[in-house]
Formats: sequence, C-alpha cells, structure tokens
Amino acid sequence: MLLMPYEEYIKVNLYSHRKIPFSCDYCNKRFFRRKINHTKISNKNDCLIEKDCCKECIKYKNTEALFKSLNCQNTDLMIKHMVNKKIKTLSGVYSIRDKQNNKKYIGSSKDLVQRFKAHLLDMKNKDHHISEFNSLDPKHLEFNIIEYDTALPDFSFRLSSSPG
Ligand SMILES: [Zn+2]
Repeated sequence: MLLMPYEEYIKVNLYSHRKIPFSCDYCNKRFFRRKINHTKISNKNDCLIEKDCCKECIKYKNTEALFKSLNCQNTDLMIKHMVNKKIKTLSGVYSIRDKQNNKKYIGSSKDLVQRFKAHLLDMKNKDHHISEFNSLDPKHLEFNIIEYDTALPDFSFRLSSSPG
C-alpha cells in the first residue's frame, strides 16, 4: 500500500526521481519506487495498484492472480499460507469442476501453479489427455486446492458428476 497521502501522491510528477514509499501487501516490507515505474505496473497513469508487492513477493502476486482467474475458492488462504511459510512452490491435491454439469477431475502435483498452467495450455491447444477438456471453456471451470503441502507424486483421475 501507498505510504503517503494520496493527495500528495497525485501531485508528484510522473517522471520525478522522488522515491515514493510503499509497503508490500504480502510481507509488509517497506520499499520505494519511482512514480513512472509504479504506473508501468498498473498500466494506468496516476493509478494506484490494488495490491503492491516488493520484488521478493512477485511470485505470490502472480500465483494469486492465476488462482483468482481460475475461480479458486481458497485463494486467500493459499496465498497467506505461502507467505507465512515463505514457500514459493505449492504442492497439493486439486480438483477441477465443470460448473455446468458438476463433473470433477482430481489431480495431484508438486507444483500446482505449473500444473494449472499446463492444463490451460493443453486445453487451449486442444491437446488435453482427457479429450472432454478440449471442448471446455476455462471460464466454466472452477479449480480448487483440496489439500496442500502434500508429498504425493503426480497423479490424476476423473470423477463423473460427483455430488458437490
Ligand atoms: Zn514482499
């Protein structure tokens, strides 16, 4: 978050060399950034970012953005867990639910972020090992992390129209 009054911030020239103080919304560390660099991140002039992060926490911010885009219900909990434990790679058991017919796919991975991205890429390329996925729109899917920090090897199986 911005650590100066917003009225003061908007008066700072875009190209000013003045270093503006922020605190990281993930680890609370204080850091400084020039206004031009800050607006580059938000892609809007004079606009503040919803969540500010220091260099060390970019991975958390990206993970949060991915999980939110996939409708993960437990995103906030997962990100808090990663920050508290200082882990950059989350392992676990996950489900992918087709919201239209409630069919579920269960999988496990040592790196959930990379696994989710792989699912999306395979769907986009119509190359998913479960052919049903190739006709699905990711926006109709809900990804959820059922269990995390598991040391299970990668696996996956499909449940048909399971309740819930
Ligand atoms: Zn941070």
